[in-house]
Amino acid sequence: MPERGWYSLTVREETARRVREQAKAKGLTVDELINELMTPTSRSVWLTCNLCGARVKAGNMPKHMAVVHPKTTTK
Ligand SMILES: [Zn+2]
Repeated sequence: MPERGWYSLTVREETARRVREQAKAKGLTVDELINELMTPTSRSVWLTCNLCGARVKAGNMPKHMAVVHPKTTTK
């Protein structure tokens, strides 16, 4: 699908422009950014730690477990 005009089917031009700016800021293509946003297992998704209730990014959860709950990771 050609990039020009793709947004007119689904979102406002202003939204598309912001999506494109976000993609550019992250060094991704628009397609990659949208896929990242759509993927529930994305590393940037926020999870709630089931031990302490803290909100932790999925990508940081292993580190959180190791630093905050070191005893639970050795089981
Ligand atoms: Zn925790």
